Amino acid sequence: MRIAHLASEVVPFSKTGGLADVVGALPPALAALGHEVTVVVPGHRTTLKDAPPGEPRGEVAALGLTARLNVVLHRNVRVVLLDCPALYVRPALYSLPDGDFPDNAVRFAFFARAALAALAKLGGVDVVHAHDWQAAIAPLLLRYDGETRFTMPAAKTVLTIHNLAYQGVFPPWALEACGIPRELFTMDLLEFYGSANFLKGGLVSADAITTVSPTYAREILTPEFGCGLEGVLANRRDTLFGILNGLDTDEWDPRRDPHLELPFGGEDDVEEGKAAARQLLGREARLAAGERPLIGMVSRLAEQKGADLLAAALDEIVGLGFDVVVLGAGERRYEEAIRAAEAAHPGRVAAFIKFDERLAHRIYAASDLFLMPSRYEPCGLGQMIAMRYGTLPVVTRTGGLADTVIDAHEEGGTGFVLSELAPAALTGTLRRARAVLADPVRLATMRAEGMSRDFSWKASAREYLKLYERLTA
Ligand code: ADP
Repeated sequence: MRIAHLASEVVPFSKTGGLADVVGALPPALAALGHEVTVVVPGHRTTLKDAPPGEPRGEVAALGLTARLNVVLHRNVRVVLLDCPALYVRPALYSLPDGDFPDNAVRFAFFARAALAALAKLGGVDVVHAHDWQAAIAPLLLRYDGETRFTMPAAKTVLTIHNLAYQGVFPPWALEACGIPRELFTMDLLEFYGSANFLKGGLVSADAITTVSPTYAREILTPEFGCGLEGVLANRRDTLFGILNGLDTDEWDPRRDPHLELPFGGEDDVEEGKAAARQLLGREARLAAGERPLIGMVSRLAEQKGADLLAAALDEIVGLGFDVVVLGAGERRYEEAIRAAEAAHPGRVAAFIKFDERLAHRIYAASDLFLMPSRYEPCGLGQMIAMRYGTLPVVTRTGGLADTVIDAHEEGGTGFVLSELAPAALTGTLRRARAVLADPVRLATMRAEGMSRDFSWKASAREYLKLYERLTA
């Protein structure tokens, strides 16, 4: 089967979050099952001086702009980077601290159009799999756009929601510059409470919709998690599926992690390996010497991720005897709160306000507990990475967290699940976790449970493939 994935970011070329990890790992897993897989992404780069990645293979035009097709073969996947400096040479992918780029509608309408044109030019595909709002109008264009619908008439479309809160909402007048015909601005298609909603346009047009965990697939049908689109999704519930994300187990492998001094991975060496990682990180984070258990958090600092909860509970967490390392960037108020906690508890709290892959690896390896108290979590990668590194996740019971972490009270427990989203529930759960950390036998059992879980992409890739096969049959 010829399968194309359209997304705004992909590891190792661009990343702001889990989407890039998924688009970096699912296509190679599909290729490994014997399929011809293409990924099309914008050629994001930060300055005109960076060389664009890839070999030039012609160009495509849309909306009065052109994109050069730069092609890289990466893990048996053909990655097409759309090099269009006017749209994709920016200091960041979507926004600056004072807000979104004002031309995001055009940036991603162009992306969808140019990506489809590139696929047609390269010989067409059987399945176009779009991810999130930035690619969501591709299914709409393939179905309804005057010209585009004739380019690959047999192609089936899938749209995956990685986070329903981001929908690509623009004023209706923005559609003209996007080359989207006025006829598509209707209640059945793009229109949503007077605005143009790219994600909605995709949700009503794609042949199938998926999201990244079974629990989130159910949650988004409710007003609490549906972000206003619960009704649109309910109309399509027969073709809405939850497929749990896998993890790139080559990238996240404590046995072969170049960022660790002493790799580990089995019951026999986990304790020693984690102690070495703790020492290494302790020096870098300037943690005071001592045998205190370490809580790690690697996350966007946003309300979604429970950053407010962490900020509210940090003093008490230190009081419970934990050291805390936070790696994250995001909203200024949380960055400041965490910096303030670092200043108030020198040697006990370390704040790294930045994006840093190397440090992330070291935190996953060194920590005893990994904190992820999300308000909602479509799938979440951090908790899975933590388990692979013998670190017990502390999570809320939502979305993918509910699907991947089993509470210590239950058979086969791999972590700790908060009873509710409140600072007191967090500190209560941490007390419970502290007792487990002090009990070497229970700790070893829980670590081993987590480390033996299969989080590889293989199983998920097979599920996607089954879906593609059903659609194209
Ligand atoms: P989301 O995509 O909602 O941000 P996920 O848990 O699905 O959350 O994925 C987040 C990914 O980004 C994980 O691989 C995590 O380790 C990584 N990450 C988040 N913040 C940082 C950071 N500041 N530095 C390095 N990696 C980070």
